[in-house]
Amino acid sequence: MSAKLLDGKALAAGLKERIKAEIQGLKTKPKLVSVQVGENPASEVYLRSQRKNAENLGVEYRLQKLDEKATEVQLIKVINSLNNDKGVNGIIIQMPLPGHIDAKLISQYLSPIKDVEAVHPQNMGEIVFGNAKILPCTAASCMELLNSIEGIELYGKEACVVGHSEIVGKPLALLLLNKFVTTTVCHIATGQRGTLPEFVKKAEILIVAVGKAGLIKGDWVKEGAIVIDVGINLVEGKLVGDVEFDKAQERAGYITPVPGGVGPLTVAILMRNLVEAYKLQQK
Ligand code: NAP
Repeated sequence: MSAKLLDGKALAAGLKERIKAEIQGLKTKPKLVSVQVGENPASEVYLRSQRKNAENLGVEYRLQKLDEKATEVQLIKVINSLNNDKGVNGIIIQMPLPGHIDAKLISQYLSPIKDVEAVHPQNMGEIVFGNAKILPCTAASCMELLNSIEGIELYGKEACVVGHSEIVGKPLALLLLNKFVTTTVCHIATGQRGTLPEFVKKAEILIVAVGKAGLIKGDWVKEGAIVIDVGINLVEGKLVGDVEFDKAQERAGYITPVPGGVGPLTVAILMRNLVEAYKLQQK
């Protein structure tokens, strides 16, 4: 058996076409501001992608840079002024922030209806209630990939999410739960206890978001499973995920490639969130 590839690029292209059409129907061009404190090479790819996608979709985009030494108070002032600016529809606080700034504290100052990455506690909390309009981009991308599978019935399926970060694993587990997927979440302690293979082997849906190349052995993958690999690792100059792709592909029913799986969808979802934020601001 050889798994079908879940083509995130193609899915993102279709989604972006729909978002572009929706943006053309809005009264004004939505405006997105990304706030970056200091320089960080790790952010550059994401920033370039934000700008390029914004331009292609008819979104006004601005990068607001603050000095590396900017304080929490200075950053909060900038956020407040963007919150109060009616011309700004979406705000991104670019991660990572310098060590002297508490990212969790900062996220609380974003207006929830301008928080296009859904990092504000209110937006996170809305997921618990199944009411979220603005969703964490990567977790939502995984759901988008699952829903793209023709004839898929999520109700009652058994899933294993590996990784419990606040931006990916935890919200994803809740999104799955909201669809009545029986969901197990594995994390560092599962790995340490040595029971990770046990949980992975049972999963009809396996979603891995850790950042460790080869963590998930191909022969752990259940026959016919849906495998979504969120991980991004650079190994000998090549981008790979967390799952041993070649072996897993022989057993899975569907699998995402890395690159070309979850990644391309993330920015499309960011733009979908911006449109959602724009609409919430008109209410
Ligand atoms: P993160 O915050 O570092 O979280 C990693 C998670 O993996 C943590 O919950 C950690 O548990 C868990 N973990 C670590 N070692 C483990 C092990 N041996 N067994 C089981 N779980 C283990 O990372 P993240 O931000 O969620 O990102 C995860 C990966 O996805 C990274 O490679 C990142 O680059 C990638 N990513 C991709 C996209 C995309 O668009 N494609 C977007 C975001 C992230 P503890 O916290 O308990 O240590």
